Amino acid sequence: MAKVKSLKGLGAGHGIKIRKNWTKIHFQLKQERICPECGSKTFGRDAVGIWSCKKCSYKVAGTAYDIKL
Ligand SMILES: [Zn+2]
Repeated sequence: MAKVKSLKGLGAGHGIKIRKNWTKIHFQLKQERICPECGSKTFGRDAVGIWSCKKCSYKVAGTAYDIKL
């Protein structure tokens, strides 16, 4: 029973963490990005894990919320 009590405490803390993390993700998605191919600022997330440039159609696979370059 002691285990259940400690898990409850962790659950509450976790909820706040996720909310803070979401704010971070939200800013990451809105952030202006530069296309690595043509330098245009129209580079953004096309779909989950796919980032593309509207100008030159350059596509790159990344994570759901950010690109790995
Ligand atoms: Zn481009």
